[in-house]
Amino acid sequence: MISRYNELVRKTINSFIKKRRFIMVKAAVVRPNSDGYVDIKDVTLRPIRSNEALVKVEYCGLCHTDLHVASGDFGEVPGRIIGHEGVGRVTQIGENVTNLKIGDRVSIAWFYSADGTCKYCVTGNETLCRNVKNAGYTVDGAMAEECIVDAKYAVKVPEGLDPVEATSLTCAGVTTYGALKIGDTKPGEWTQIVGAGGLGNLGVQLAHNVFGAKVVVTDGDPKKLEAAKENGADLVVNRHDADATEQVIKGTNGGVHDSIVTAVSAQAFTNAVNALEPNGTLVAVALPKGDMALNIDKTVLDGIKVAGSLVGTRQDLRETFDFGAQGKVKPIVRTEKLENINKVIDEMKAGKIVGRVVFDFTGDKD
Ligand code: NAD
Ligand code: ZN
Repeated sequence: MISRYNELVRKTINSFIKKRRFIMVKAAVVRPNSDGYVDIKDVTLRPIRSNEALVKVEYCGLCHTDLHVASGDFGEVPGRIIGHEGVGRVTQIGENVTNLKIGDRVSIAWFYSADGTCKYCVTGNETLCRNVKNAGYTVDGAMAEECIVDAKYAVKVPEGLDPVEATSLTCAGVTTYGALKIGDTKPGEWTQIVGAGGLGNLGVQLAHNVFGAKVVVTDGDPKKLEAAKENGADLVVNRHDADATEQVIKGTNGGVHDSIVTAVSAQAFTNAVNALEPNGTLVAVALPKGDMALNIDKTVLDGIKVAGSLVGTRQDLRETFDFGAQGKVKPIVRTEKLENINKVIDEMKAGKIVGRVVFDFTGDKD
């Protein structure tokens, strides 16, 4: 009896020590001068607290938002571990965690946590919470071997979904899904996807396969336009054509019902407004520096609506994962080693990536 008791005490102490352990992980962090690139460094993660879990990251995609963070576009955060398209398995849970267990596959998204009580949180607008935390920006993110999550906000990834593809759905997918909802995308109506990059290629598929809309896509890269066609675009327009906006208006018989702007260009926003039909909605998603020019006559006389859209709620993410598991959306992904991340950043800056590059953390299993 005493030996059983001793064994239990030993196990409890051991698990406590393990849980209190600081861990060293290889991670991509924002440079001290926020020059737009990252350093690969060993970083010490603190022990998890109650309501948290530790996740062994399997894969993490690079989103254009990571480039904004690395450049200090939203305020400088030197030393911050980037990454918010992360997927991995839970290896430790803190006290009071009831919704996750060890072994669960979860996502690490930009929407990391919120206060859960404010008017935004309780009205289905939790991403707008004033006490929100963002992975890879205000807290350390998923471009690392391991990552701490707030258990209540880590959304489970369905086992039937490929984990590499799931990374893209964690930000690019849920963001375009949320934006299409804000644009009131309708079956049979035209939706424009401006920019066919990491977000845009998923926007096309969701607009076509989930919302049943007719889709027009604009981008400057013929390869991306080709991929958009394969993904269900009814019309593609090269933005470099002098009459690109007219092509959209003509090809859609008078303009689009909603336009989801994912292009990192203020000019793209202006062009998109001009291609809206009366009562149309511009959904601002990309985050270029500067202001958009909004033609006041057109806005008033055509009853134009302009709305911002910020990622998606946990429920939006669950639904997006389900669309992935059902095959309604299939991200275009390519895996890379973490060492090559700055080369990939250059590729993204040059607009050369078709789909997403996802960094593989499964190679160094111990
Ligand atoms: P990306 O680099 O993969 O794709 C951007 C695409 O826009 C590229 O294909 C590029 O060729 C195209 N493009 C550039 N200029 C254009 C123009 N004038 N017209 C048409 N296409 C043009 O980037 P991404 O990861 O898809 O992210 C896009 C933007 O969305 C970034 O600013 C990112 O920070 C932002 N973002 C916002 C949210 C949100 O919640 N609002 C979430 C994720 C990303
Ligand atoms: Zn993102």
